Amino acid sequence: MCKTHVLSVQSAKAPFEKTTIERRALRPDDVLIDIRFSGICHSDIHSAYGEWGGGIFPMVPGHEIAGVVTAVGSEVTKYAIGDRVGVGCFVDSCGACEYCLRGEEQFCEKGVIQTYNSLDYDGNPTYGGYSQQIVVKEAFVVRIPDALALDAASPLLCAGITTYSPLNKWNAGPGKKVAIVGMGGLGHLAVQYAHALGAEVTVLSQSLSKKDEALRLGADHYYATSDPATFAELANQFDLILNTVSANLDVDAYLSMLRVDGTLVNVGAPSQPDQYHVFSLIMQRRSIAGSLVGGIRETQEMLDFSAEHGIIPQIEVIRADQVEEAYERVLRSDVRYRFVIDMATL
Ligand code: NAP
Ligand code: ZN
Repeated sequence: MCKTHVLSVQSAKAPFEKTTIERRALRPDDVLIDIRFSGICHSDIHSAYGEWGGGIFPMVPGHEIAGVVTAVGSEVTKYAIGDRVGVGCFVDSCGACEYCLRGEEQFCEKGVIQTYNSLDYDGNPTYGGYSQQIVVKEAFVVRIPDALALDAASPLLCAGITTYSPLNKWNAGPGKKVAIVGMGGLGHLAVQYAHALGAEVTVLSQSLSKKDEALRLGADHYYATSDPATFAELANQFDLILNTVSANLDVDAYLSMLRVDGTLVNVGAPSQPDQYHVFSLIMQRRSIAGSLVGGIRETQEMLDFSAEHGIIPQIEVIRADQVEEAYERVLRSDVRYRFVIDMATL
């Protein structure tokens, strides 16, 4: 066992406190990671505020973990002390079901073990990355390429894979018109991946304030959704709309921008149900879909792709005592484009 400093909340919406927890003693297939940086995902806010229900408290959020291996179990083969590594949204799965075997552990039939806010297979709560150390099975650890700095790499572990995976699954590429809704942590990476994959990329943001940045990151077009004319102008345009927004949208209005056979893929996860008219689907044979992060193999592929294509999260590094202020700024869409906690300040 090893004692480690963490930032935790005792109950939904409670303030963050500096406390300590015990990480488990290394099992033969575990690695101990000294966490250097931890990104703040909007899912951390939904979870710490109890918006998705069923939160396990006290909670230590954080599933965008970048750090360095400081010890390895006796049977670890993939990693050695000093390796630069990452951990994303989950830390264990059964390893034997159809989905685990095909490398989509997030859909594990036994239930994937999330990095935090989960009970592991022994019934112990998991605690996430707002922490100085974490113990993780080596099979759920990925390697951070040398070309990526650890602070900038951390958001890739959730925001990166969550956008890279559906863009590939729904064939964003040459000849495809792709819209990204919301230029936040996920959205600003989605723009870069869709562009690198060869698609024609449109950003749909609430205001024009992020236009220059979006164009610099690879967007071909940019529209403000606060302007009602946007929806009429873009009717029947897109093959794919990737919705990264944390709140409910007027789904019919977004569906109206899809071509025949186009798909609206939701990764944004508002706590309340969406509503839409089924005729918005029927008349143009459109689809609505969702996507959950991505498997370990694809997460490594995403990191290597990011290094190769120079896809780098735009981050603002903060101290451990600034997390609450950062949450409030994320809720105001006042983040350019991901907060990352420097864990040395804990
Ligand atoms: P974020 O940084 O807050 O970005 C969300 C963006 O959505 C904002 O920057 C804003 O962009 C736009 N937005 C916010 N409120 C809006 C509203 N009321 N109407 C229209 N647009 C609004 O959050 P994030 O970390 O990227 O996460 C986004 C969502 O994805 C969250 O719900 C999170 O839980 C979810 N998520 C899902 C998965 C998954 O596996 N499916 C993984 C990670 C995160 P503009 O300023 O450009 O309008
Ligand atoms: Zn996340």
